Amino acid sequence: MPKPMTPDAIRTAPKVLLHDHLDGGLRPQTVIDLARESGYQDLPSTDADELATWFRDAADSGSLELYLETFAHTCGVMQDEAALIRVAAECAEDLAADGVVYAEVRYAPELFQERGLSLDRVVTAVQEGFRQGEARAAEAGHRIRIGTLLCAMRQNARSLEIAELAVRYRDAGVVGFDIAGPEAGYPPTRNLDAFEYLRQQNAHFTIHAGEAFGLPSIWEAIQHCGAERLGHGVRITDDIKVSDDGSVQLGRLANYVRDRRIPLEMCPTSNLQTGAAPSIAEHPIGLLTRLRFRVTVNTDNRLMSHCTMTSEFAALVEAFGYDWADLQWFTVNAMKSAFIGFDERLALINDVIKPGYAALMA
Ligand SMILES: [Zn+2]
Repeated sequence: MPKPMTPDAIRTAPKVLLHDHLDGGLRPQTVIDLARESGYQDLPSTDADELATWFRDAADSGSLELYLETFAHTCGVMQDEAALIRVAAECAEDLAADGVVYAEVRYAPELFQERGLSLDRVVTAVQEGFRQGEARAAEAGHRIRIGTLLCAMRQNARSLEIAELAVRYRDAGVVGFDIAGPEAGYPPTRNLDAFEYLRQQNAHFTIHAGEAFGLPSIWEAIQHCGAERLGHGVRITDDIKVSDDGSVQLGRLANYVRDRRIPLEMCPTSNLQTGAAPSIAEHPIGLLTRLRFRVTVNTDNRLMSHCTMTSEFAALVEAFGYDWADLQWFTVNAMKSAFIGFDERLALINDVIKPGYAALMA
């Protein structure tokens, strides 16, 4: 008999997370502690529960100013090495306790330089934090492997510098590169020199595309920049026509994305907050899963969206009636799409993911 799909059971299932922002996943109490230690004065509350609610409501409010303010606070308290180490270590512990066995966590090093840290010191501090967190998680009986992605901010002009940083630390835990920040007005092609450099270096990258902005953003990311994966990519549904009789027609770009198995890093709850979908049940992930795109499930910002991998999976189970085989499919999709080497991906699929789901389905 398969195990009932309760949140507790889903938590024990091995999960893989490809799209999670380091500055979007702090524990509320840690934000408060770090603010006190660093003299950061601007927090809206110094009570952990109140602050957690404030983060979620601000992200939910539909106001861009409030949404950006949430990240001003988290980044505001992450401006020294000790803070970065603590945040990264707790991130690894929290993901591991949630049953995540492999995660790619991303952040923009340029956001942590307000107090004079060099880019290199930001990266080494975050790597040290993940190393400590992986070790503490292992002691608690949860094995997790974390790779990091370095983001460049679309509105700044530092993408080549950040791409070089990612390549410099490719053997020290950095597994890829991304561009993040506002899509409108900042097409990915503004960063062509960075993508060109990464391709020359045989390095991996994903691009936030097709969240707020539609098909041109996705097309540029894939065909001009050479993105291996799409951050969100929900708007690929603009190129899919569903007729009243239920028949489905894919346009050329949608076909290309599906044919080439280009992974979509989908973040359902986060998309509800930004208005990209009205509800989980109406989220394009249902259609794209039915059409067998390379769909992966992700958290984006666990603090702002008040979610975990377990709660995302549980919400999908409730909305679409997915079973363990579906959750395994999302997980294997994500593992196949990870930026670590083939041998390691295969080992995680065969030795951890498949036995984990087999035990739940037996
Ligand atoms: Zn994101």
